Amino acid sequence: MSTLIELIYILSAFLFAIGLKMLSSPTTARQGNILSSLGMLSAVIVTLFNQEIIDYKWILLGLCVGSLIGILVARWVAMTAIPEMVALLNGSGGGASLLLGWAEYHQQPVAPTFTMVTILLAVLIGGCTLSGSILAWAKLRNVGLGNFKIGRALVFKGQQPLNILIILVIIVLGFIYCTESGDHYSIFLTIVCLAILAGVMVVIPIGGADMPVIISLLNSYSGLAACAAGFAIQNNILIVAGSLVGASGIILTNIMCKAMNRSLVNVLASGFGTTTTTTGTRRVEKVNPISAHDAFFILEAARSVVFVPGYGLAVAQAQHAVKELAEFLENNQCAVQYAIHPVAGRMPGHMNVLLAEADVPYEQLVEMEDINRFMPTVDVCLVIGANDVVNPAAREDDSSPIYGMPIINVDYAQTVIVMKRSMATGFAGIDNALFSKNNTRMLFGDAKNSLQALTSEFKGS
Ligand code: NDP
Repeated sequence: MSTLIELIYILSAFLFAIGLKMLSSPTTARQGNILSSLGMLSAVIVTLFNQEIIDYKWILLGLCVGSLIGILVARWVAMTAIPEMVALLNGSGGGASLLLGWAEYHQQPVAPTFTMVTILLAVLIGGCTLSGSILAWAKLRNVGLGNFKIGRALVFKGQQPLNILIILVIIVLGFIYCTESGDHYSIFLTIVCLAILAGVMVVIPIGGADMPVIISLLNSYSGLAACAAGFAIQNNILIVAGSLVGASGIILTNIMCKAMNRSLVNVLASGFGTTTTTTGTRRVEKVNPISAHDAFFILEAARSVVFVPGYGLAVAQAQHAVKELAEFLENNQCAVQYAIHPVAGRMPGHMNVLLAEADVPYEQLVEMEDINRFMPTVDVCLVIGANDVVNPAAREDDSSPIYGMPIINVDYAQTVIVMKRSMATGFAGIDNALFSKNNTRMLFGDAKNSLQALTSEFKGS
């Protein structure tokens, strides 16, 4: 039986790897997702035949409760809350590894050094991921009490020395746990508490536009914790799946850092936006509003239009409306493209997912660097609920917290039409000078309503 289990694990690992590869292209992503899910299903089923299982009662109860929570969450979670859900899922992965390591400690309080080290790593990384992810969830939700909102970066005096102290204590206690024989449950519990504290300390100095980096980093941690747990309980599929998640999370973190033009160390230590406070309503009097009717005339005359979607597209659920408008523009001999910023929205690939849902042709999606080269030749840039990712302060204002972050240079286009509901700031909480530029027109209102109003103008023309 154990040989059969290992063979099916190899098949599952194969399905994971192929599925992951297929996720790299929107045309094959759906099939890739199904293949990976099949891999996971077969891994779960075959694990249930493991001879070490002596009682299925708790497993069945866990399956029922977990499935019920999964179904309810999948049905009720709003599209805009998916990033928060991802943060919680990362935390669940970390929590599961923490519990696995903890249970394994009880199974064999004194074990070979390698097993002790892997138990230690599972508990450390798992605990850190659990608390860090819960805090990241709270930051994305910007929960708070009164005026105190947790979304902002929190930096205090002595933070770095405290972090170093926590790491040193963990190393010393970890060394004692792995090398000394005898009862060290109190040391083990202290390590669990310190791991949870470390997760909090990693995430508190992060805020504003830096959040995507920490979300993908925690995703990677959850994989590494699973990998360590896999070594602790000698389960090959857990090792493979954990390594895949860990490695892809690190790659994604690297992509995110590049998108912000920052190093990981800089993101983790800088405390985004702790010194800059802006109201986001100061520039109201300077902007040029435009009606849908007048915007239509500009679009009707345009020969090239670039849509720049952002988080507001997800809030308005305007992906189908933008596709409909694009079709009218194309019928009017206008070239249409979509410029995608790597951190637009609230999760990696957020805009790609939304636009794929509306069957926007993949060839029309253009990455930031590519579109920026052609921006001065673009007739109209239609900014749909994007704010931080088109903020010229990243280029022009060296006192801005997002200074140096690559942006889509929409202000270089001939005309910019910005669709948003008000003069409110974006996720980073900073003003946007784009709105008051001479070539910018503000089309206020819900993005979906504005897009539909423009489409109606085309229909009526
Ligand atoms: P922003 O958060 O900067 O701005 C979104 C804008 O959408 C707001 O200014 C808001 O203005 C507008 N908006 C909201 N609802 C609507 C609506 N119904 N209709 C029209 N407009 C609407 O979004 P960006 O995509 O430009 O930038 C993403 C930000 O999120 C970056 O700072 C990034 O670092 C961060 N982030 C990204 C993650 C990722 O993985 N992609 C994860 C976590 C954070 P108004 O209220 O006036 O309508």
